[in-house]
Amino acid sequence: MACFRLTPSSVLRGTLRVTRSSSFIEAHYRLATARFKGMSDTSVKAPGPDGSAAPTTRNMQASNPNGTGAPTYFRKGFGLKSEIQSELESDYTGHLVDLLKARDYTLTAGDVTIRLAREFGFCYGVERAVEYAYQARKKFPDRTIYLAGEIIHNPHVNSKLRAMGITFLMPESGGGHIDFSGVRAEDVVILPAFGVTISDFETLRKIGCVMVDTTCGSVLNVWKRVESYARDGFTSLIHGKYYHEETRATASQAEKYEGGRYFIVRNIDEARLLCDFIESRLSASALMERFAHAASPKFDPARDLQRIGVANQTTMLARESLAIGELVGQAMARARGDEYAKQNFRTFDTICSATQERQDAVVELLREPLDVMVVIGGYNSSNTMSLAALCSETVRTYHVEDADNIDPDSGTIRHRPLGEQGEIESTGWVPPNAPITVGVTAGASTPNNKIGEAVGRIFATRGIDPKAIR
Ligand code: SF4
Repeated sequence: MACFRLTPSSVLRGTLRVTRSSSFIEAHYRLATARFKGMSDTSVKAPGPDGSAAPTTRNMQASNPNGTGAPTYFRKGFGLKSEIQSELESDYTGHLVDLLKARDYTLTAGDVTIRLAREFGFCYGVERAVEYAYQARKKFPDRTIYLAGEIIHNPHVNSKLRAMGITFLMPESGGGHIDFSGVRAEDVVILPAFGVTISDFETLRKIGCVMVDTTCGSVLNVWKRVESYARDGFTSLIHGKYYHEETRATASQAEKYEGGRYFIVRNIDEARLLCDFIESRLSASALMERFAHAASPKFDPARDLQRIGVANQTTMLARESLAIGELVGQAMARARGDEYAKQNFRTFDTICSATQERQDAVVELLREPLDVMVVIGGYNSSNTMSLAALCSETVRTYHVEDADNIDPDSGTIRHRPLGEQGEIESTGWVPPNAPITVGVTAGASTPNNKIGEAVGRIFATRGIDPKAIR
């Protein structure tokens, strides 16, 4: 499990409190501080993002094309929380969600009951990232502000940021690089909660623009794990989506060390193929035919799968991550002996606590008799997909990207079925007469106003005016 935790309250205050095993995080912040001029701590000699020794403050000053003497790297906001608080609240607070929480996560009107999972919606990392983006706009009202990809995977939040004049620089399709060629030294670039790859970070550093880094502390924790595997000569086996921004940034950490390698599996079926290679049931060429896109360049299975360390994208299904670790460890022990596996296989659960809590809460909710489950969150939101996968095992589940996917007038719901790419529309998803209990949860990037709006639309589908619910 993550060996540190950012408390929500500290995030809201714009401060960080590291409660356990904090050396890496502290080093990261000190390093980040030391990277850029105008910051106070200049004494850190940790590795730079490319594995080289960290540049001294003096070097950084010399290489900063800005030449203005002002700081260019920020990861603690700008102390403007009070100035953006009301805007944040009006953009993202939901009355019906507040009511649900006050009523033990249950609202009944007519013969419709809504049950909300006890942990849902915005996590501490997302709150912090969104808040810092608003603060950046306030701090630099006249500058061009870019976002390196989406700040989080929620269409509503992203469209709010676009409306504030923030330009999104999206990676090439399939998880490629971001084109920063239009960014100038006087511009501001916000790094998302998922983080960016080492090479993207270096590109921005060379441009000398202002960077507002919102990378979540839980993601930094995974980077620490992958970096330690690479340092010790282990290949990082990452349970994640090879094209996802977080997994790409995490995988790039393996390249900090000469010979550092990564191999990404999306699910247990892909992990089984890896086990087939380890146990000589699959050739190296057959393995690479399938995984060339998801492994480090020039990956050689015979050479690079001798020592394996498992990590994961923070938002995967925790249960599956654990199962993959176990499966691969057992395959290695069968193929090469227990003692070999003990020395050459490591596993560590790097699912973040917010993801874990949301999955636990939905499992708890699913113990109750529910007629249908609605999961709200972006279709490209990994943690939302994990919640939808859990729910689908037990009850009829609709994953909707936004509240307006539920249309009370036509009685339809637009949703994406599990494992499919497209959205479909279903009618009659709520029976017209019988009493019904609807479970609701939302991914870590879904704001409360959208959850509340979805709840209101569920009631309205059965002809109940949500405004009348007090
Ligand atoms: S889901 Fe976890 S890792 Fe991702 S931003 Fe939220 S707290 Fe951080």
